[in-house]
Amino acid sequence: TNTTTKLPFQAEVAQLLHLVTHALYSNKEIFLRELISNASDACDKLRFEGIDNPALYEDAPNLEVRVSFDKAARTLTIADNGIGLSKQEAIDNLGTIAKSGTKDFMSKLSGDQKADAQLIGQFGVGFYSGFIVADRITVESRRAGAAADQGVRWASGGAGDFEVDDIERTQRGTTVTLHLRDDAEEYLNAWKLKQVIGKYSDHISLPILMEKEEWKEGENDQPGDMVKTGEWEPVNKASALWTRAKKDITSEQYAEFYKTISHDYADPLAWSHNRVEGSTEYTQLLYIPAKAPMDLFNREKSAGVKLYVKRVFIMDDAEALMPSYLRFVKGVIDSADLPLNVSRELLQESRDVKAIREGSTKRVLSMLEDLAKKQKTAVDNAAGKIDVGSGESVPAPEPTAPVGDVTDVVDKKAVPAAEAAAEFASDPDAGKYAAFYAEFGAVLKEGLGEDFGNRERIAKLLRFASTASDTVSVGFADYKARMKEGQEAIYYITADSLAAAKNSPQLEVFKKKGIEVLLMTDRVDEWALNYLEEFDSTPLQSVAKGAVDLGTLQDEAEKKAAEEAAETFKPVLERLKEALKDKAEDVRVTTRLVDSPACLVVKDGGMSTQLARMLKQAGQ
Ligand code: ADP
Ligand code: MG
Repeated sequence: TNTTTKLPFQAEVAQLLHLVTHALYSNKEIFLRELISNASDACDKLRFEGIDNPALYEDAPNLEVRVSFDKAARTLTIADNGIGLSKQEAIDNLGTIAKSGTKDFMSKLSGDQKADAQLIGQFGVGFYSGFIVADRITVESRRAGAAADQGVRWASGGAGDFEVDDIERTQRGTTVTLHLRDDAEEYLNAWKLKQVIGKYSDHISLPILMEKEEWKEGENDQPGDMVKTGEWEPVNKASALWTRAKKDITSEQYAEFYKTISHDYADPLAWSHNRVEGSTEYTQLLYIPAKAPMDLFNREKSAGVKLYVKRVFIMDDAEALMPSYLRFVKGVIDSADLPLNVSRELLQESRDVKAIREGSTKRVLSMLEDLAKKQKTAVDNAAGKIDVGSGESVPAPEPTAPVGDVTDVVDKKAVPAAEAAAEFASDPDAGKYAAFYAEFGAVLKEGLGEDFGNRERIAKLLRFASTASDTVSVGFADYKARMKEGQEAIYYITADSLAAAKNSPQLEVFKKKGIEVLLMTDRVDEWALNYLEEFDSTPLQSVAKGAVDLGTLQDEAEKKAAEEAAETFKPVLERLKEALKDKAEDVRVTTRLVDSPACLVVKDGGMSTQLARMLKQAGQ
């Protein structure tokens, strides 16, 4: 009987496949990392399900991956004895992209190969990367615990569709066979495969085996060749990376491990690896990515920290381990104390988990503080503020970048300070904080409202543009250090764009008096700043709210003139109030304007115009 079913790929998959083969061409070898990491994930899943159901191991208790090739048939095979796939799972998982943000991702593709390759890398092509080197892929699988006649064969040429068949398969797990393209022959070579595995998959915690080869002299004038011996040997270290001592791990290995767990294409920006001892024992290996994922602002999006218990993988996206405002952090936490059968519900309540979460949060914050400090030191050095001893000081950078036309800056979110910082500092760490901030600063701000215990530390990490700096580089502490004598508050304004903020009539009096105002243009600013009443005992004040009290900076004469004007213009004000009675609560004379005739302000403690607009947009 013929059970073959032909099914079309989800439209996005077909599109992605086409791109994968073109855009990722220059970095072909990553396909092996992707397939081995899938094999490893499948073994992790079996280990996890096997905790409650040991029968799933059947007669093969040792989890492993085997990589082999057949020169004559031009095939490369990656086989695992992990959890396997049922027919339906093969259809669902190898025919669609289940990831959130797929559509969004597709819409961002530009057709420029280099840019797209980066984007694809970030998105993670996973299984489909096999088509970079193969013009046909066959997958044979049987789910652990299912009967031998429940096997499935999935096959595709990577164009519009794939086929599935029912097959008989005695061994559990999955075998992926790649029919290599002509230009991928190099992978029919044990040395090459070992090299790629060593590079990308050394840290995988289960053994990756290859068949041993021996040199055999040719007979009857035939040249000699390597022949298989039938004996399999591990070609990786097979110890989970985070369990090794720091000194035994190179930066490259840390970076590769990051790429495997994050599905990122680029190196991480920073990482921290620690064994924490005390009442709760755990190992943490936490990474800060260099680039934000596309779905960063989806707060429901799964967190990037994997939970292991005594080296057994328990779950991905364990939200309980990391607060939402640090959802960009990737990594592994391996606990020595949690029970292996820990559930998500249990995680929420566990005191150990609470301790881990607090410890990991602090660890991330100190990583960020460290980056910020290094950047500041580098910038100060470059600016010649600190004598580095060489006697030669680099000229200080211009404090403010030149401002373009208003129309020029409207759509720019902010000038990434990373570029500015990296430009004049030779220290590679110099631009890192700015780079981090440009990608994740807006998310970090959510922490002001979310993590009261660490609010001050978070506030110190925030950076803004200001009337004195077009780059997003001014921290509250920098601002405070530059405050005018007699100035009693940190002033800020929120707006949709840098240009709108800068040209706001509400800034006029501040400009006139030379008082710096922080310019906040992230959507989250308004909300987040609500949670920060003061910084280091100095109150924060929105210049768009109430009657701005400039305190002792206010000119006595100006004040008096305003009071007099208020008296003189009383009848006018009354008439304006009457005319605007449905629209304005009050109309008054102000000293805050210099050039503009009038401006809108919000009453003290009221919702700002920015927030009101946001709520309106959201249909409230
Ligand atoms: P990801 O690994 O990010 O989920 P992939 O494209 O690499 O995405 O794989 C898609 C899905 O296919 C996996 O989530 C898994 O369900 C399934 N899969 C792939 N390879 C295997 C395998 N070796 N064993 C079992 N399932 C697999
Ligand atoms: Mg994968």
